[in-house]
Amino acid sequence: MTIPKVALATLGCKVNQYETQVLREHLLQAGFREVPFKGKADYYVINTCSVTEKADRKSEELIRAAKKSGSTAKLIVTGCYAEAEGKRIKEKFPGVDVVLGNNEKLRLDKIVGLHDPVLVPPKPSISDFYQHNRAFVKIEDGCHEFCTYCRIPYVRGNRIRSRSPCEVLREIENLIQKGFKEIVLTGVNLGLYGEDLSSSESLVHLLKRLQHYGGGVRFRLSSLEPHLVTNDLLELMGSSSSICPHLHLPLQSGDDYILQRMGRKYTLDKYRRLVKEARDLIPQASITTDVMVGFPGEEEHHFQNTYHFLEEIHFSRLHVFRFSPRPGTKAFSMRPWVGAKIQKKRSEELRRLGDTLSRRFAVRFLGKSLRVLVEEKRHSGSGSLMGYTDNYIRIFLEGKDELKNQLLKIRVIEAGKGGGAIGKVEAADEGT
Ligand code: SF4
Repeated sequence: MTIPKVALATLGCKVNQYETQVLREHLLQAGFREVPFKGKADYYVINTCSVTEKADRKSEELIRAAKKSGSTAKLIVTGCYAEAEGKRIKEKFPGVDVVLGNNEKLRLDKIVGLHDPVLVPPKPSISDFYQHNRAFVKIEDGCHEFCTYCRIPYVRGNRIRSRSPCEVLREIENLIQKGFKEIVLTGVNLGLYGEDLSSSESLVHLLKRLQHYGGGVRFRLSSLEPHLVTNDLLELMGSSSSICPHLHLPLQSGDDYILQRMGRKYTLDKYRRLVKEARDLIPQASITTDVMVGFPGEEEHHFQNTYHFLEEIHFSRLHVFRFSPRPGTKAFSMRPWVGAKIQKKRSEELRRLGDTLSRRFAVRFLGKSLRVLVEEKRHSGSGSLMGYTDNYIRIFLEGKDELKNQLLKIRVIEAGKGGGAIGKVEAADEGT
């Protein structure tokens, strides 16, 4: 019997990457062999994204690429773009065999075209994370915030679905046993975790339960909506050595009028106070953010306000992106649109600012001793080892392959290069 070959590709966020891993493990269990996406396969599964027009385009490029590599192969398209534009995909790409929305993503029976109930995964969970040395663990799905530019509540559902703490803990335990030293807790809107469970369940509760894993592993939180960050969470982060002192708090705009048009649930003043509280409670805290340029109605003075707010907060890293009109959202019909040239100019300005801010943050730690997790992949240009500190500074190191996947204490000996720093190994972290 020949073993069927499957190739998987994923676009988008950590939640999507987690779901591909669930699918991968179920396919392998069902007797498939994974091959690279660029190679010949019998099945191609593309887990798409639809956060921006660019993501839609990339999703379509992957469909075309799969069709080219395996003209007789079965082509399955799933994920957010499939959820939002399933009909369009079928019309545009008649060669696509199956389009599965997010709810059906794990229906192996539909993927392989069989109706054997044994193939339907009983429970989504993972025990490994392909080609990563940190594992993403999805703990929550869905968002009911309806920010005016965002398609997520429509393509992922506006009902919050939290995984039970027992299930999450079991999965994390398996990953730790497998050797993972960093676990990133992720969700569509992570701060809403527990809202649909009993009244005592929350992100803070879950994190407290993770504390007994000790120093050999660290936990990182993915993006958190600013208005959902509680004082309890900040206190716990400040007192725990296993939760990374890193908060990614999407700001989106540094102008109250634009924030209000975006349907964001905080003002700049509240955001400012939150950052101050976080810095008071969490030593060495790194605050990173997402910022959008070119939201409909964003005039030059609104943009300048954003620029100055970013400088004032001195974020340690910026993720800059341009507004993209998503069909079905409120902002899709908002006017006036900001021209492409202006969007480009504004995003370039913010990227330059982001580089400066990252450099400044890294320089603050010159001569300091920090914990870093060394990654599997070396830097392609210099061949140096690479990793991230707890507070998310990118570190380059010289050393042997044995250091890979180790949590090490390093001393920062040069800071600011490429927004990161050069470190020297001091010792393995005591907890390892
Ligand atoms: S909080 Fe807003 S931006 Fe984030 S997923 Fe929900 S609707 Fe989208």
